[in-house]
Amino acid sequence: MKSEQLGIGMTSQRARNRLVAKLREMGIRSETVLELIRTVPRHLFVDEALSSRAYENTALPIGHGQTISQPFVVAQMTEVLLTTGPLQSVLEIGAGCGYQSAILARLVSKVYAIERLATLANKLRSRLHKLDLGNVRVRHGDGRLGWPEMAPFDAILVAAASVDIPQSLLSQLNIGGRLVIPVGAVGAQDLMLLTRTSEGFTEERLDRVSFVPLLEGTG
Ligand code: SAH
Repeated sequence: MKSEQLGIGMTSQRARNRLVAKLREMGIRSETVLELIRTVPRHLFVDEALSSRAYENTALPIGHGQTISQPFVVAQMTEVLLTTGPLQSVLEIGAGCGYQSAILARLVSKVYAIERLATLANKLRSRLHKLDLGNVRVRHGDGRLGWPEMAPFDAILVAAASVDIPQSLLSQLNIGGRLVIPVGAVGAQDLMLLTRTSEGFTEERLDRVSFVPLLEGTG
């Protein structure tokens, strides 16, 4: 009973509204995205011990040296994909705890999520199942290679920083498809948006960001 009461406090509407107000202040404009941030239960994606901080605008540890992304960054990447073209089929790389997957699942018909750590990938499958998010397929693998069998995608979202832009990801985009990816070494990363056109690719720098590294192989 006590923990239930605590639970209500920790996950309260007030904390969620405060987070939404903060993201609005920081420049997120899409009401659809803000509503998803308000309604998707971020506290269910972190350890119970951290759930009182789930609606703060910060990254939090999820074990294995990895983090759940900062809500602002999740909102920013989602907003950019939503406002730049059609969004039906999305490849997500570095799914981690699955918070970003859950947000995408509420927006698009098909989410293909890749995670390189087996423990996280397995946890993710059962969490998405519990939340009834049947339109997310999870693969344990190296996301740098993409998911060729399911390509082409309207968008590819990478949630770990890469020193280069993996060519295999670019080749798995539709014409008009977008890749949003943090590029650079620890401490000096840019969030980049690449768009595939009939002639090639256009490139735009969106922001300075801080992500865990995109690693080769699986674990
Ligand atoms: N999307 C998550 C953030 C996860 S942090 C969220 O919603 O909060 C980044 C994740 O990328 C980690 O879980 C890490 O294990 C994973 N990762 C790193 N390199 C990868 C690779 N090559 N392929 C797939 N996942 C990778």
